[in-house]
Amino acid sequence: MFISAELLLQYQRCKRRPFLDIRGEKRWRDTGNDLIKKLQQDKIIHQKRILTQFNYKKPKYPRREWHLAHQATLELMQLGVDSIYQGVMIANYAPGCTLVSRPHLLIKQQGKSLFGDWQYAPANIELGKRPKQEYQVVIAFHAQVLAEIQQSEVDCAWLMLRGKDGSYLVDLSKWIPQMEIILEEFIHSLKQDEAPEMFISRQRCSLCHWHHDCYAIAKSNQHLSLLPGVTPVRYTQLQELNITTPESLAETSPAVLENLVGFDNQVASKLILQAQSVLENRPLLLPFNPEIHNMEFQHAVELYFDIEAQPDLNLNYLLGVLVVDKQNHTEQFYSFLAEKPEDEELVWQQFLDLVWQYPQAPIYHFCVYEFDTVKRLGKLYRTPKASVSPVLNRFVDIYEHLIQNVALPVESYALKAIARWLGFEWRNPEASGAKCIYWYDEWLKTGDRELLEIIQLYNEDDCRATLSVKDWLFQFFQKQSH
Ligand code: SF4
Repeated sequence: MFISAELLLQYQRCKRRPFLDIRGEKRWRDTGNDLIKKLQQDKIIHQKRILTQFNYKKPKYPRREWHLAHQATLELMQLGVDSIYQGVMIANYAPGCTLVSRPHLLIKQQGKSLFGDWQYAPANIELGKRPKQEYQVVIAFHAQVLAEIQQSEVDCAWLMLRGKDGSYLVDLSKWIPQMEIILEEFIHSLKQDEAPEMFISRQRCSLCHWHHDCYAIAKSNQHLSLLPGVTPVRYTQLQELNITTPESLAETSPAVLENLVGFDNQVASKLILQAQSVLENRPLLLPFNPEIHNMEFQHAVELYFDIEAQPDLNLNYLLGVLVVDKQNHTEQFYSFLAEKPEDEELVWQQFLDLVWQYPQAPIYHFCVYEFDTVKRLGKLYRTPKASVSPVLNRFVDIYEHLIQNVALPVESYALKAIARWLGFEWRNPEASGAKCIYWYDEWLKTGDRELLEIIQLYNEDDCRATLSVKDWLFQFFQKQSH
């Protein structure tokens, strides 16, 4: 069995995934999605940029022929080349278990080794901006195999990250022992008959090619990870109490949960109501906020606001506003779009001009991003406070109102999940915020205007979905007070 650093990386993210990668049925894997494609493209661009700083040699070997690859890499190390890109080293670890190490770079260092008066140190080029634990464990894995190959301890190893941290020196004395523990645990898990249990986590699983398979199993088992609020830590706590299904959670008294670490009375009650809401398939009012009945939710004119951003460029390229005139029964959508990144300031000004035309209108949005961004854009473009603060004072975060007051029979409190539960449909069912990032990148590369139109349509639908959630919430509160 070959154990690679890639598998070890995946194991740290999800214990089930590398088990399936090795032993799962390939036909149940999802075919790549746009998001994964974009990540791969970003990785290649970042690697190419870093590699320009090195005078490297690349060993030649047929694909996945690890013994030949190891031999070719060894030859370059013996020659003492400055750096090696995509080298491969293999080492026996335990009976039937071979480690395959493929650091992005091996960089020549001063010191002694099997090869002569030099040695090598590993470096990995990672897309993340921070030296996450999983990256440090992986580079420690490479360092360990390298030490065996060159018969000399490895003193340093680097992570080449994006962002200001740049090149990060890893403390191998700390990470090699931790890596060994994780590696042992991983190999042990591979020897089991059953795959480790799944835990559906929206962000992590959406980037995994086993998502459809795992989700189908979770759905048929009514797995607790599908309940919003059940985190991996809480899941373990619930299991220890023998609470393993939505039914058993729904029947639990809050007093049983409220003394657990990370729980209090509110968290406990909310989690139980969440399970009840799903089982009864109906929304339930949370008991904590009596103020809601006094909240004002109807205005002559209302604005619904949503932003599309490209985080890699630190750019907010689309500010969309739906103006709903309740008195005159009209709706008008405004799409302030920066066709090129330099136009961000222009669309920011256009947004301000529009919202100041309706100085009394509340500005509804979903989640805190819109509020934070308006604050940030105000600072960035030195907009007078008098123009920005009154606008911010009109912001109403529908997401906050929802999660503070209602439990819904949904799997997530994302706008999409909630609006779809209400029957709202996006005109392009494939579209998502993450895909818009990819499409905007493609627009910048290709100039294909159709991509901009798809993004604008999606952004308008986000505003309309916010409107439908807000209207529903208002009616729900009204019904509850009656
Ligand atoms: S879909 Fe999620 S639970 Fe399943 S293997 Fe992938 S990351 Fe793990």
